[in-house]
Amino acid sequence: MNYDFSEKEFSFFIELHQLLAKYAEGKKLDDCDLAGSENNLRQATAMLAGTPYLKLAIEPVDGFNGLLTLTGAWEVLASISPSLYISVETSARIFGRIISAWGDDVQKKKWLPEILSGKVIGAVGLSEESLNIDNAPLATLGVLNGDKVEISGRKQYVVNGPMADWFAVVGNMGDKPAIFMVEKGNPGLIIGARSATIGYGGAAISPLELKNCVIPAANVLFPADAKSMTATLRLWENQILMGASLGLMKTAFESARTYAKTHKTGGKPIIAFQEIGFKLSEMLTLFQTSQLFAYRTAWTSEKDPKEAESLTLCAKVFCTESAEQVACEAMKILGGAGYLSGNAVEQAFRCAKYGQIAGTSTEIARVKIGDTALGLRN
Ligand SMILES: Cc1cc2nc3c(=O)[nH]c(=O)nc-3n(C[C@H](O)[C@H](O)[C@H](O)COP(=O)(O)OP(=O)(O)OC[C@H]3O[C@@H](n4cnc5c(N)ncnc54)[C@H](O)[C@@H]3O)c2cc1C
Repeated sequence: MNYDFSEKEFSFFIELHQLLAKYAEGKKLDDCDLAGSENNLRQATAMLAGTPYLKLAIEPVDGFNGLLTLTGAWEVLASISPSLYISVETSARIFGRIISAWGDDVQKKKWLPEILSGKVIGAVGLSEESLNIDNAPLATLGVLNGDKVEISGRKQYVVNGPMADWFAVVGNMGDKPAIFMVEKGNPGLIIGARSATIGYGGAAISPLELKNCVIPAANVLFPADAKSMTATLRLWENQILMGASLGLMKTAFESARTYAKTHKTGGKPIIAFQEIGFKLSEMLTLFQTSQLFAYRTAWTSEKDPKEAESLTLCAKVFCTESAEQVACEAMKILGGAGYLSGNAVEQAFRCAKYGQIAGTSTEIARVKIGDTALGLRN
């Protein structure tokens, strides 16, 4: 096993941090109206296209290590803006990887360069109304009619829904799994109002409906089988949520450490109270263990994808649950100031809740991990 970062990778993380920190200066990236969210996402994606970031884990990048390098870079972006992170990753890493994994040559040529150059924003419609893909097959259906396909279905919680240029809508065509590529403005694509959420306030999330929505048959991708398609989509989501957790823990830990050293009560900085030091030490332990777990998972995903499935579930649960604990302890260190809206720690706490719910939820992951441990899953 080798998941050390090279000098080149460390330099990339530092440059990425400088670039993003400069971009973030004076902006409210995590609490904005729709126009603001769209503007930030398009500017940031175009800026990231000038670095290797968008290509990682999609195309080989000289001197970099695919998903492993990406995991280090994820921490940087997620610590600067969780909202930008989730929006950029949905577009590049889920929409982009859908095309890279399941598109034919013509489809790859059509969408991949646009996504990787940041010219186009993608969204992914997977979850359906009252239906978690871990429990039942998808109900979204495409019917072939000559060289066209008519799609019907409803999707919910679609990140980038209100502003994406293209939607990858996951469903079935006949008895085959299919991914329908639908362009914004296509008749029959009905985008719902932006949903209000407790975290990720700079990301735009909405439901969508497909009603008499007709697209060219050439815009349908066919993954080999439904089981591996949903497992792969969940794997990618889980990886991204791990990356988000690392960024949230970095922000929460660093904010609490600075506060502990600078905030005084009774004439001395609160770090003088031993219990504050214990909290920081537990937070750092969870953060660093999560980093190692995420790196090991990334390394294993590239070397031994089969082995990585259950490992990713274990790591996803560990990282997302740790992110909530670290943010929660950080809020306690900040005391009353931690409970006031608008500070980085309370934002990390609100975002951390999403990691536990989305992708493979902690509950479902634990069932699957248990089944693997008992040899009931292969
Ligand atoms: C902010 C946000 C953004 C999202 N972005 C996207 C997106 O861009 N695209 C997309 O397609 N989806 C997206 N999702 C959906 C997300 O990935 C989950 O699929 C969705 O939140 C699952 O929620 P549900 O309401 O269907 O849960 P339910 O399935 O109703 O689960 C409710 C509870 O029951 C538990 N449970 C359910 N089934 C089992 C089981 N088999 N065993 C044990 N426990 C179980 C769950 O863990 C949970 O505690 C997003 C969700 C949120 C909140």
